[in-house]
Amino acid sequence: MKFRFWGVRGSIPSPGPRTARYGGNTTCIEVRSDDGTLIILDAGTGLFPLAQHLLARPQTPQTPPVQANIFITHSHWDHIHGLPFFTPLFIKGSRVRLHGAYDPVTGKGIEHVMAVQLQNSYFPVSETQMGATIDYRTLDIGTPVEVGDASIGNVLMNHPVTNLGYRVSCNGRSLFFTGDHEPWHNPYPPGDAAFDAFEAHLLERQRAIDAAMAGVDALIVDSSYTREEYPSKAGWGHGTFDAAIEMALRVGARALYCTHHEPTRSDDDLEAAFAAAMARYRDRLGSLQVHLAFEGLEVTL
Ligand SMILES: [Zn+2]
Ligand SMILES: [Zn+2]
Repeated sequence: MKFRFWGVRGSIPSPGPRTARYGGNTTCIEVRSDDGTLIILDAGTGLFPLAQHLLARPQTPQTPPVQANIFITHSHWDHIHGLPFFTPLFIKGSRVRLHGAYDPVTGKGIEHVMAVQLQNSYFPVSETQMGATIDYRTLDIGTPVEVGDASIGNVLMNHPVTNLGYRVSCNGRSLFFTGDHEPWHNPYPPGDAAFDAFEAHLLERQRAIDAAMAGVDALIVDSSYTREEYPSKAGWGHGTFDAAIEMALRVGARALYCTHHEPTRSDDDLEAAFAAAMARYRDRLGSLQVHLAFEGLEVTL
């Protein structure tokens, strides 16, 4: 199995010379299982260059059509914005299967993500004008699905909207992608009547997440903020470099990839923030490899 980052930026695309080395596209990861099944984790603006790559070779009647299995962590713009621009949608014979969570606020399944973006005020082409076969699979939380020779499990993370973290497993290798995730925080002070019950709830949720990540070969984590920035951003649904490293150590991950980079951060500032966190953990990392994700980074597991 292998994977490649096509978008590593959080919140909003951030093109330009200050972000050219790590890239300005928002979240998108291409995964190829051992039998070549195409699995795409999130459909941020990185999905567009991925689409161009998929169609780069000359298209002939003999060229096999694109068969894409897209898994959406959640419906915030930076994770879905590339979807209407996924060129295989416009090509007859392609098949695009979109997976994601039920939204308890709208009461709708994953098809809603596409329907909203294709509203006439936002996009000029309707779904009926698209040539591909598109189907929608709203996932049951905690129930894995099989795609080709891979299995994709999911677990509920901590974010202001329902966000599924995905574990992709194939022939004994695995990766886990958090989407957007903020470390748990008990809002009640110790001693408050509600503190213990809430703490028990958080512990149960954390256990489920840790079990889903346990022993993973590659752990890809929302590391938007520095530990100094975090207090002013608490509750926005994102993590820190330090929290990502703690998580990777706790679950016994083999390698950690920090992603969802803060959109205002230049490449130089990103490297400086990462280096400061790494310096704090230098003596605790053991065999854990820690990387800053960048567009084009490809990893074979
Ligand atoms: Zn995001
Ligand atoms: Zn989000």
